[in-house]
Amino acid sequence: MAEPTGILVLGEINKGNLHPTVLELLAAGKTLARGLSQKLSLGLAGPSLDQPAKDGIAHGADTIYTATHQLLEQPHLDLLLAAWTQICRTANPAVILIARTTAGRDLAPRLAARLNVGLAQDCLEVKLDDSTKRLVAHRPIYGGNAVAAVSPKGTPQIAAVRPKAYDPLPADPSRHGETINVAVNLDPSMAKTKLVQRNEEQTGGVRLDTARIVISGGRGLGGPEPFKKLDEIAKILGAAVGASRAAVDAGWVPPAMQVGLTGKTITPELYITVAISGASQHMAGCSGAKVLVAINKDADANIFKEARYGVVGDWQKILPSFTETLRELVK
Ligand SMILES: Cc1cc2nc3c(=O)[nH]c(=O)nc-3n(C[C@H](O)[C@H](O)[C@H](O)COP(=O)(O)OP(=O)(O)OC[C@H]3O[C@@H](n4cnc5c(N)ncnc54)[C@H](O)[C@@H]3O)c2cc1C
Repeated sequence: MAEPTGILVLGEINKGNLHPTVLELLAAGKTLARGLSQKLSLGLAGPSLDQPAKDGIAHGADTIYTATHQLLEQPHLDLLLAAWTQICRTANPAVILIARTTAGRDLAPRLAARLNVGLAQDCLEVKLDDSTKRLVAHRPIYGGNAVAAVSPKGTPQIAAVRPKAYDPLPADPSRHGETINVAVNLDPSMAKTKLVQRNEEQTGGVRLDTARIVISGGRGLGGPEPFKKLDEIAKILGAAVGASRAAVDAGWVPPAMQVGLTGKTITPELYITVAISGASQHMAGCSGAKVLVAINKDADANIFKEARYGVVGDWQKILPSFTETLRELVK
């Protein structure tokens, strides 16, 4: 068998288009491919892949491997896994990048098992070792209190990369690439589970994971009612509202609003925290925020070590004038 070569991104399709994480992985993969002087490929599986393939090339892929099959119309992980495995065997890459989305968390370990190789999970960064040119991935350990550098065993090396860890490259529609069709034999009996119902989360306002501004509340708010005050500020700023796990665990807000290690990763330009202590597990989900503003009554709270601007005081006294000032400023 030929020597494994190149970087392969396995891309998810969402409603007929590339999932946003694919563009992030292509940016990460491009740097690795340059470091190896090898090609960057994108593997796609779905019922119709013409547009996603074009978008993949515009965003940096040199080659697209397409596994087109009508049974992939419904999101079915067993069938997607079979298609991805076939793409990997055809492409024979040195490195595979997968997004650690809900589907990616399920698919990455199963793919690694099928290919009989190791996997680096939940990676914040992927690099090449200077001397061996093997993949080295940085991933949080001990609940986000430390970062480990790991190099998955075997080839291909697989890394599941956390969403939002990389910024997409700008699209270049003038780029050209090659598309290779991969034949896949899929059969409905390969699906070990059945999709019974799909409930789409209804987000009234701005999406937390893509918002430019986020304001989050913590346990120090004392209950669900004060989150309405955060909603008010969010409306003025066009922001999304998030929460710490303590606020979610207390049942004040839904789990979809949780920011952190076991919640959403956010990378807003402005992140405002209200009555959040700044535990490492919370910070693990917002370390990509450009500017952090913290309101907390405890001057020694960890959040102030991370914040660019801090207000020490009781949120009940600070928020009314803060809200009014913002209202005036955006008029
Ligand atoms: C494996 C694991 C995963 C985890 N994942 C996450 C995660 O994804 N996200 C997450 O957030 N946490 C996570 N946690 C929990 C984390 O360790 C903290 O317990 C949690 O973040 C604390 O939330 P908090 O800051 O709201 O509450 P607290 O730590 O209780 O802090 C409340 C803050 O409010 C301040 N305060 C109180 N009253 C006022 C007032 N009137 N005005 C102003 N300030 C006030 C206090 O000074 C304090 O700093 C995880 C923990 C573990 C072990």
